[in-house]
Amino acid sequence: METLLRFDNVSKQYANGVHALNGVSFDVEEGEFISVIGPSGSGKSTLLRAINRLIPISGGKVLLEGEAVSQQHGRALRALRRKVGMIFQNYNLVYSLSVLQNVLHGRLGYMSGLKGIFGLYSEADKRQALDLLEELGLGEFSYNRASDLSGGQKQRVGIARAIMQGPKLLLCDEPIASLDPSSSKTIMDLLRSMTRKRNIACIVNLHQLDVALQYSTRIIGLSKGEIVFDGPPQQLDDETIQRIYGTTRENLMLGGKDHA
Ligand code: ADP
Repeated sequence: METLLRFDNVSKQYANGVHALNGVSFDVEEGEFISVIGPSGSGKSTLLRAINRLIPISGGKVLLEGEAVSQQHGRALRALRRKVGMIFQNYNLVYSLSVLQNVLHGRLGYMSGLKGIFGLYSEADKRQALDLLEELGLGEFSYNRASDLSGGQKQRVGIARAIMQGPKLLLCDEPIASLDPSSSKTIMDLLRSMTRKRNIACIVNLHQLDVALQYSTRIIGLSKGEIVFDGPPQQLDDETIQRIYGTTRENLMLGGKDHA
């Protein structure tokens, strides 16, 4: 079986000289649920964005199913991006459109430019979008404007849109950072169940260590742009937490977001 995603000695230096990633290497296999943790500025978001080329990397290689992401252009880059869904902290929905239309946007990468512009989705796509909304508990809101929804509901639309894409890999950049604890639990539960059911690998950037420990099959710990831990949650001992965050588990749990 081909490795789904490979980071091979990846580095990223921004134009201002900041080294956000240094010699980062890891492989992701189908169906893994990986949390990337580390303090603010440790490179979590940069790592995620290097995967679908939202940012160019400075050195090394990112390979998706064996193909170098950085060498794809035009049609090939579009094909590659279809394999990678993304979920954002601030949902990135189009609020003037209906919930259903937002979910259908997940199909845009499969359509010709004109069909996309005029929103000429197939009946099969509409059926699938409605089914997904039903599965996510949002069936009754399908024709509401996206702006009418709560934060947790908006993120569920984000999940539906990403799944509509038929991705092999789902990238989630701080998906619960703007949500209350109850909505956060719903979103993490849904991310896990929806991806597991479809054998989609998931990489989630998280502030919250406790959430990472609870949901992940594997945790990658970043500190100053380098991987300082890569393993199952059970192996994340106090010493490693100190190495990642520069502080103790107790301080992290008490301090919450400010420290992480
Ligand atoms: P995290 O997601 O862990 O908070 P980031 O990947 O956002 O970390 O940032 C890693 C480092 O790169 C930080 O020092 C940050 O200030 C810097 N950085 C992030 N984005 C940019 C950018 N567009 N231009 C310059 N520096 C950036």
